[in-house]
Amino acid sequence: MPDLKDILGNEVLKDHFRTALQQNKVSHAYIIEGERGSGKKMIAAAFAKILQCETRQAQREKEGTDLTEACGTCASCIQVEHKNHPDVIWVTHEKPGVISVGEVREQIVGTMDVMPYKGPYKIYIVDEAEKMNPAAQNAILKTIEEPPSYGIILLLTTNRGAFLPTILSRCILLSMKPVPDGAIRDYLVNHLHVPDQTAQFCVGFSMGNMGKAVNAALSEEFLELRQFSVSVLQYIHEAEPSTLAEQVKNLKKWKESVGDFLDILLMWFRDVLVMKLAGGENEIIFKEEYLYIKKQSQKLSFESLNAVFLEIEHTRARLRANVNYDASLEVLLMFIRDKCNDGGNT
Ligand SMILES: [Zn+2]
Repeated sequence: MPDLKDILGNEVLKDHFRTALQQNKVSHAYIIEGERGSGKKMIAAAFAKILQCETRQAQREKEGTDLTEACGTCASCIQVEHKNHPDVIWVTHEKPGVISVGEVREQIVGTMDVMPYKGPYKIYIVDEAEKMNPAAQNAILKTIEEPPSYGIILLLTTNRGAFLPTILSRCILLSMKPVPDGAIRDYLVNHLHVPDQTAQFCVGFSMGNMGKAVNAALSEEFLELRQFSVSVLQYIHEAEPSTLAEQVKNLKKWKESVGDFLDILLMWFRDVLVMKLAGGENEIIFKEEYLYIKKQSQKLSFESLNAVFLEIEHTRARLRANVNYDASLEVLLMFIRDKCNDGGNT
């Protein structure tokens, strides 16, 4: 688990925490918003680690100064690292889709009044906090409004819109930002020893999301999905409807990561667009598929390409709304195929 200083990018957020630590103005409630894989848990843990650090505590008592990094070696730091610090509570929930009022009462409201066991703070980290239903949010409200001096709640979320206005107005809102491409590439190449070409693909795919980049670089399952996607895309302009239907069936294997499939599609057609704008082989991400990309760039008009981008996003929205999986993807692939053949070479 990295320390604050080791977390890439997100300077604004890190500076916010550092200033709060330095000036001893740590708030009692934070909302950290960011997409999946953007590093919310990492930054929350790093912040909790500093707050609980015994070295920091000792320095504070002795010299009145506030360190803004954890020492990493005291017993407390090691416990936070291993996720077993008694005063850093990771709130859990049983059902995948909801954090219930019972869970909030049992894990947060009911224990907040108990003094911390060893650290100066009692820190609650609620991941996927958007899953707290209104009853659960109401249950936590009073704790957020009138916390004990040692109490800190970190709500991590992909969507701050899911919170009641009463919760929002009581919390400091912070957002994770995309990490610069160069920083992600350096990390993949120098720390994870990912080959340059793969790293370049992962950087493009991640759109600044570190978790996504690392997963794309290391996961066998993702590699398979990528290869499968390319096999679909190479010949999509001449595929028979029955072939596309067959491919959609095969895609079922990756049902959980269909968003990744759509992202790969977007990247592919971004390459087609780059090629159309007279880009060279070096400017595209799917370098090995250069010839296919080039061919499709001649078949798709700018207008058709734009329609393809829109249709990919529409499909994403449909799948989120639980519209039939096979049907949605078949419609999408057929749509792309037809656009490749509408003769628009402009
Ligand atoms: Zn420490």
